[in-house]
Amino acid sequence: MMSSASGIGMTSPGTRQRLLQRLRDKGIRDERVLEAMAATPRHLFVDEALSSRAYEDTALPIGRGQTISQPYVVAMMTAAVLGEGRLGKVLEIGTGSGYQAAILAQVADKVFTTERIGELQRSARQRFHRLGLHNIYTRHTDGNKGWPSQAPFDAIVVTAGGRIPEVLYEQLADGGALVAPEDAGLHQQLIRVTRRGEEFDRENLGAVSFVPLREGLE
Ligand code: SAH
Repeated sequence: MMSSASGIGMTSPGTRQRLLQRLRDKGIRDERVLEAMAATPRHLFVDEALSSRAYEDTALPIGRGQTISQPYVVAMMTAAVLGEGRLGKVLEIGTGSGYQAAILAQVADKVFTTERIGELQRSARQRFHRLGLHNIYTRHTDGNKGWPSQAPFDAIVVTAGGRIPEVLYEQLADGGALVAPEDAGLHQQLIRVTRRGEEFDRENLGAVSFVPLREGLE
């Protein structure tokens, strides 16, 4: 899927290498995740006007009041749901630019991703197509319902903050992990829920900041 960033200085290999080093410095150790991050042209997931900033470790606007997540957070969330082997089916709520889905698609067999804003869902779908990411399935639907026809999922990644929708627990496979930013007072905490039969173990992975999980379609 590696399209070359021909002639654009700011997307030079050096710039990408610096981002990789930064992720390592911040504690991302999983080589599979680092490899996926290195292989994904993030500048193609933002507006051309912002492409010079695409390899900075920051969230950036993608229109409609939404953002592409910070690379560190994308790497951390991917590592948090990735066990020993490759993942089978993964569900993402909040496609946005499609960047997180593109990373997941490199460590999973199939990625199902839902977005409630039609315009964003359509541009993400075009990106997947252009980049040859044929194992990503995307829909313009409200993620509060999950994706029942494809459940159960080995991993679920929620990229908008709020109350974790109950149905997602039911759609998680035994042994699978879900990560989601959950509202706690003024802040959000990244929660990892691991399913063991009918038990759901909760861990707090630290403070994060995501756009809100909303209801209905736009
Ligand atoms: N994963 C994205 C991050 C996008 S920001 C990326 O890598 O770029 C979160 C996205 O979640 C926004 O695009 C927002 O529209 C979407 N969203 C919010 N509530 C949603 C819901 N209930 N169902 C599906 N998408 C939702």
